[in-house]
Amino acid sequence: MKPPQTSSAHVLIFPCPAQGHVNSMLNLAQLLALRNLHVTFLNTEHIHNRLTRFADIESLPARYHTLRFKTIPDGLPEEHPRSGERSVEPLHSVKVHGKPLLRDILVKEKVTCLVADGFFGKLANDLAEEIGVPIIHFRTIGASCFWTYFWIPYLFDSNELPVTGEEDMDRIISTIPGMENLLRCRDLPSFCRPNRAKGEPFIPLETIVSETHQTLRARAVVFNTFDDLEAPVLSHLRRRFPTIFTVGPLHQHRESRAPTAANTMKSNNSIWEEDMSCMAWLDSQPFRSVVYVSFGSVTTVTRESLLEFWCGLVNSKMRFLWVVRSDMIAAGEGKDESVPAELVEGTKERGLMVGWVPQVEVLSHKSVGAFMTHCGWNSTIESVVAGVPMICWPYFADQQVNSRLVSDSWKVGLDMKDVCDRNVVENMVNDVMVNRKEEFLQSAEKLAILARKNVSEGGPSYDNLDRLIEFIELISQK
Ligand code: UDP
Repeated sequence: MKPPQTSSAHVLIFPCPAQGHVNSMLNLAQLLALRNLHVTFLNTEHIHNRLTRFADIESLPARYHTLRFKTIPDGLPEEHPRSGERSVEPLHSVKVHGKPLLRDILVKEKVTCLVADGFFGKLANDLAEEIGVPIIHFRTIGASCFWTYFWIPYLFDSNELPVTGEEDMDRIISTIPGMENLLRCRDLPSFCRPNRAKGEPFIPLETIVSETHQTLRARAVVFNTFDDLEAPVLSHLRRRFPTIFTVGPLHQHRESRAPTAANTMKSNNSIWEEDMSCMAWLDSQPFRSVVYVSFGSVTTVTRESLLEFWCGLVNSKMRFLWVVRSDMIAAGEGKDESVPAELVEGTKERGLMVGWVPQVEVLSHKSVGAFMTHCGWNSTIESVVAGVPMICWPYFADQQVNSRLVSDSWKVGLDMKDVCDRNVVENMVNDVMVNRKEEFLQSAEKLAILARKNVSEGGPSYDNLDRLIEFIELISQK
């Protein structure tokens, strides 16, 4: 790493108001601040207040002297629901109300470079153009899903889209460059499906496509991925987007770059209170014996699905640590809410259910043998770094693509997509934990080594971060 110098660049980082987006962009903010770039991280008040309560975010500027926080309201009342079907409402609301506030900050703070979440595509591009501030897009999803979003109009042109119904779901999509014959219709982003799953947030496909194409207007794109993970897609993507910086896995990158003093307090940038009792529980479990289960920060499940997962986990006879957020269960439909006694008993014997955990630490704990995940990009890449095989149950958006990568490209797990059945859960848990354990562990360990190499000195992501910083310095000098 080059020695830190004072920089005249002032970067404003503006994430979409959701856990996964804030998490990875805050990791980038810390990495830039470590190199003495002036960074203002712009959060909604709701997110900032939660980060203050649960991630001690206010202590960060003392450790990263050039990092500051600013907030804007998301335009919704504090008690407004923000998970499941309602999870996209803060984003919509900021898009509607946030423009004058963002303009004000960009001008008053003399920002020299805007790093905007790609979800703010048009709004951020228009503002940056109006004010004359160079803009970089940060995509918090993987390159493969971004490329799939980008390619959707061409899938309509080649009659591979639309997806017409259930019978169509196993049809192979053959024409996405770099992903030829990898995806079936059921592996396309959920927005391509004719029907929404129960409780799934709604974003029209046209909006996804048009916001994705807005990235063509940005000076560069940053991805929380690494070259070895998505090489075929990245080589195609680079022809359309010449200035791409792959700097991930960012949480590991932050850890490998930050001097000990700045990194003493490990932070998952959580907007939920971490229940640390899970770490002591994990300490008391045998080596690689636990299935860690989490469906991220916005997924909701019906009571019926919850019971299927629960029965499958208990019947597998494996130990499990399960994150069940207080807002995770979709509103009841007047059904029986009692829990069968054998589930209560099985959980007492071999399980632990908590509201939120420090996931990166959990995944790297020696007792964890598999991760049952919804395949949000952060969770996926965190599992890759930890070398933990996955059992995937994607919920929406990019997760359908990510779970296909896990099972069919990287071969580090199984994809349960579109099925929620106790027998399937039980069988997949046993396959990953016992029957095919060595096979999955070997692939996962190989990928983990690559991930770490990429963010170590001399690795591609490490070098790309240096290049990104030089690029920001350059475009900041008007
Ligand atoms: N996470 C966590 N504790 C939990 C569950 C999740 O710290 O109990 C973090 C996880 O490490 C990841 C983020 O929350 O960084 C979830 O992001 P992801 O992209 O996986 O999914 P999303 O929540 O956006 O659907």
